[in-house]
Amino acid sequence: MYFDNLSTFNDLVHLQTTRKGGFSEQEFSSMNIGFSVGDNPDTVLRNRMEVARISGIALDRFVFPKQCHTANIAIVTEAECGRGVFPDKKDSIPETDALITSRKNVMLCIKTADCIPVLLYDPVRKVVAAIHAGWRGTAAQITQKTVLTMIQKFDCQTENIIAGIGAGAGLCCYETNEAFYNQIVASIGHNNYPDYAASRHHIDLKEINRMQLLNIGLQEQNIEINPICTICHCDEYFSHRGSGGHTGRALSCICMK
Ligand SMILES: [Zn+2]
Repeated sequence: MYFDNLSTFNDLVHLQTTRKGGFSEQEFSSMNIGFSVGDNPDTVLRNRMEVARISGIALDRFVFPKQCHTANIAIVTEAECGRGVFPDKKDSIPETDALITSRKNVMLCIKTADCIPVLLYDPVRKVVAAIHAGWRGTAAQITQKTVLTMIQKFDCQTENIIAGIGAGAGLCCYETNEAFYNQIVASIGHNNYPDYAASRHHIDLKEINRMQLLNIGLQEQNIEINPICTICHCDEYFSHRGSGGHTGRALSCICMK
């Protein structure tokens, strides 16, 4: 899957995988990108090589963090290329849930199964970011903090940043308890949250990430949301909740050529 807004830039490669097009079997069928879910590592590596082939970016230029539902952000350089890619090395960037780079030919990678992937691009300062925003990361404002880091470290201006919020858990299915609900809504200020009175403890993670981007200054027309709910469509998309916790992981990635 691709975002229309990011697809208009010729110097950019990005995508979010579905379940289709890989080599894994049964609950991991077929394009599982994650090593830590119980799939055969050789098959996962083969799936990753297939994404590399389709994207035109060499697999040893991909970078994976060890995602821990934090708001920790890493700035990636040439030195990190290939980290987290190969199963025997176990060298993912530790405890990190967002990656930023200004380097060309570096593929920033995020894995999800219901959590929200967010991809950012500043075409003026030439900076990209990939974010893993589950409920904890969203509550900790990881998306907003990533934009703030782009501003502080790379002199990005929010009005130039293009954002894609990917397929993930939808408002329809993402139920949570009152404590979690209150934490997440607090991340954007209670007054800003749309009144979902009929679904008091349902959370719209995509909308909350969108509001975090708007709150920090992104332009509404520069933010695109993939409306697909992975829980509703767990036959086509890996879904943690839709599968009872035993499933594969999708890849969202972005790279400047
Ligand atoms: Zn749904």
